Amino acid sequence: MIGQIVFLIVLATAIYLFSRNVGRIRRNILLGKDTDRSDRPAERWKTMARVALGQSKMGKRPVAAVMHLFIYVGFVIINIEVLEIVLDGLFGTHRIFSRALGGLYSLFIGSFEILAVLVLTACVVFLARRNLLKLKRFSGMEMKEWPKSDANYILIIEICLMTAFLLMNAADYKLQTLQYNHYIKAGSFPVSSLLTSFLAGQTSTLVAIERACWWFHIVGILAFLNYLPYSKHFHILLAFPNTYYSKLEPKGEFSNMASVTNEVKAMLDPSFVPTAEAPGRFGAKDATDLTWKNLMDAYTCTECGRCTSVCPANITGKLLSPRKIMMDTRDRITEIGKNMDQHGNDHHDNKALLDDYITREELWACTTCNACTEACPVNIDPLNIIVQMRQYIVMEESAAPASLNNMFGNVENNGAPWKYSNADRFNWADK
Ligand code: SF4
Ligand code: SF4
Repeated sequence: MIGQIVFLIVLATAIYLFSRNVGRIRRNILLGKDTDRSDRPAERWKTMARVALGQSKMGKRPVAAVMHLFIYVGFVIINIEVLEIVLDGLFGTHRIFSRALGGLYSLFIGSFEILAVLVLTACVVFLARRNLLKLKRFSGMEMKEWPKSDANYILIIEICLMTAFLLMNAADYKLQTLQYNHYIKAGSFPVSSLLTSFLAGQTSTLVAIERACWWFHIVGILAFLNYLPYSKHFHILLAFPNTYYSKLEPKGEFSNMASVTNEVKAMLDPSFVPTAEAPGRFGAKDATDLTWKNLMDAYTCTECGRCTSVCPANITGKLLSPRKIMMDTRDRITEIGKNMDQHGNDHHDNKALLDDYITREELWACTTCNACTEACPVNIDPLNIIVQMRQYIVMEESAAPASLNNMFGNVENNGAPWKYSNADRFNWADK
């Protein structure tokens, strides 16, 4: 009974803390400007099923794709077993599903154990790729300190959880074969049964190992759940809404700024009546000037570096890394949220995403090629943030680089980016 009460307290605390942190992230995302992504729901469901559920953009790197699939499927499927652990914890039962499912239970446990081995293998390979092979994609100025440790922590946690799962089953299986107490025969254990020879023979030690691993496994999973909101692994949850709300228009299509469009319409069409609403800031200076979708993108970023590895600016040695753009945006909106929690909603720390996090050099290095959005496995759009910040620099500060100012002048005067007048445009044909 005491065990059940302790379990209930641990479970309730974990769920409460997780809900509170998810609520904060949701609040932070909604600090962004409104943008309508409610159109074409059927197309959106299809995109989500293809990209998030089907992992369709992972296939370009087959080794990573297969390993990631093991972890993804293993994580989802093995956690069905967590339901049994939770019910056992709450009702004081042991392997509550074994009687009800009969032969099917063997199939479940067998699949969970095989998946656990695949997850373990994938985690070891991923750790080696990051720390021994030192793949270039996982380095960069934004991948130091916390982001570097975060990636390792999560792999180590998963290794510990899977090991505890297999050890728990091994001890349980041995107790079952000894027909000890309530450890009734409950299916086949294809992997953990191979480990039984490494375990002690005394039933008291076996029970201690089984119970310790049981608690470690479930408390570990609840701790993992609460770690997610502080980690890039929050993408496990956000990948689904983020792909649902992804941009459906062609990648190269830029959206017009409504306030500017209204101005132009008013100039060209005297009958056009613009809305009375005063235009807000042009472009984005801080994270709150971006849309909620940009901010959801930022919280969904897996820090995989696929965008940066294909970015022509980054490849040619420029300062720009689209991954850093996303991580900076996430860090800044999180900082704004923390300031609100600590000092009230009106507090301003006199910092901004522009200059304090992202430099102008980074922004102007972008070629707007969209290779980053194409490569992103969860349909994140770093370019949209870059463009909005450039719009701010150009339209609010008139601080575009000199070469661009010349081009703007030419467009204004000649209707083309070149310095020749309209009248001289066909001179080439006379030569
Ligand atoms: S759009 Fe900009 S940030 Fe993205 S890959 Fe191209 S140059 Fe890099
Ligand atoms: S933006 Fe996409 S591709 Fe780039 S690091 Fe984040 S998840 Fe990976």
